[in-house]
Amino acid sequence: MSAPMKILPRLPVVVILGATGCGKSKLAIELARKFNGEIISADSMQVYKGLDIITNKVTAEEQAQCRHHMISYVDPLTTKYTVTEFRNKALAIIDKLIADEKLPVIVGGTNYYIESVLWNFLVDKKNGEDTDGGDDGSEEERICNTENANSSTYDDLDNVTLHKKLMEIDIETAQRLHPNDRRKVLRALEIYEHHDRPMSEILSEQRIRAEDKSGPLRYESPCIFWIQCEQKVLDGRLDDRVDEMIEKGLLNELTEFHHKYNRDRLQHNQDADYETGIFQSIGFKEFHPYLMLDDQGRQTYDGQQLLEDGIERLKLVTRRYSKKQQRWIKNRFLKRPGPGVPSVYGLDSTDPVNWTERVNTPACNVLQAILNGDVPAISPLSCDEDRDEPDYNICTVCEGRVFVTKYQWQAHMKSRRHRHMVGRYHRSTSESSQGESPSEIEDKT
Ligand SMILES: [Zn+2]
Repeated sequence: MSAPMKILPRLPVVVILGATGCGKSKLAIELARKFNGEIISADSMQVYKGLDIITNKVTAEEQAQCRHHMISYVDPLTTKYTVTEFRNKALAIIDKLIADEKLPVIVGGTNYYIESVLWNFLVDKKNGEDTDGGDDGSEEERICNTENANSSTYDDLDNVTLHKKLMEIDIETAQRLHPNDRRKVLRALEIYEHHDRPMSEILSEQRIRAEDKSGPLRYESPCIFWIQCEQKVLDGRLDDRVDEMIEKGLLNELTEFHHKYNRDRLQHNQDADYETGIFQSIGFKEFHPYLMLDDQGRQTYDGQQLLEDGIERLKLVTRRYSKKQQRWIKNRFLKRPGPGVPSVYGLDSTDPVNWTERVNTPACNVLQAILNGDVPAISPLSCDEDRDEPDYNICTVCEGRVFVTKYQWQAHMKSRRHRHMVGRYHRSTSESSQGESPSEIEDKT
């Protein structure tokens, strides 16, 4: 990808993220039409020909509104289409669009496909199985789980003593842990014994290494949107969408595809492999027992029962997948702020009636500002996990209770229990000494 120096400012790439069913395709078309762009799908199942309904491809009408790329070009029997192949093809399209002064609008999709376009990975990732949500386990859990617990040396010590010990050797970790969190305190002590260095140091090194792996951003200041939707509303919408899929002819699609590509394949492959290529599509394997019946069998009561089961399972896995997608966006973009992590602008599609005002208009404004080289008027999402931000506090009024996060501390300050204790403290101090003003107590808390 040798990008020649340009005098004109480069067009940004636009990326639209969000769970399945939140309206990504709609916004992509609106932005592409308004800003002279074309759409690139970053979805590992939409690259294959076939299964258009279940992989949720844009319709012919939608494709007529705006040019879409990276859809339906891989043979369904290909089982080794890699993310590297996707990336090379997508980058060539993006570069061509930018050269033609057209705006590339990337709609995602599959997390490692989006990553491959956004970041210049130093090491090519393996085209592993569906890695969505693979970012869940914290590094801390991972390093802790690899240690062999040998707590015998500490068995006799109480929680407070253990925590004090940890304070001495690894203050950073100690301040994040409540003394009563004995298991974690113990692990941190054991890691210190085992490696002869504090856990916090090991973790921060791992974090740096993880960032290295994702490499620098490929395109300068990308414009990234996350269309959010309340989960309850989204769940309902996803269920409805499955019903719509059936109306659109999902069953025909599945049986035809099964006869054309799946039946023979399964005959040579006893253990029904649904782990490769398009056969991994969400919703296809869910109908396996039904599809294995012959035409007559499908008409029987049992056949219809298997169909119902398939539909219910499709609804379930779709809802589950949408949660996974959102968790990934949060972990990938909001939980590790840094130079290699771009800003993400939040849009809210919970109420379709407010689409223009909550999704379209803010997106257009942000994009226009970025195109103008301005700072968008709305601020990007930040990690709203203020709750988990470490903040070590001891409440002197409440008999020295310990709080380790900002959220816990703030919640405690507002709690009835704390206010009760403050009241008691005031009464007792005004009885014993008239000197101390109540406002001093408030300052302390
Ligand atoms: Zn208190």
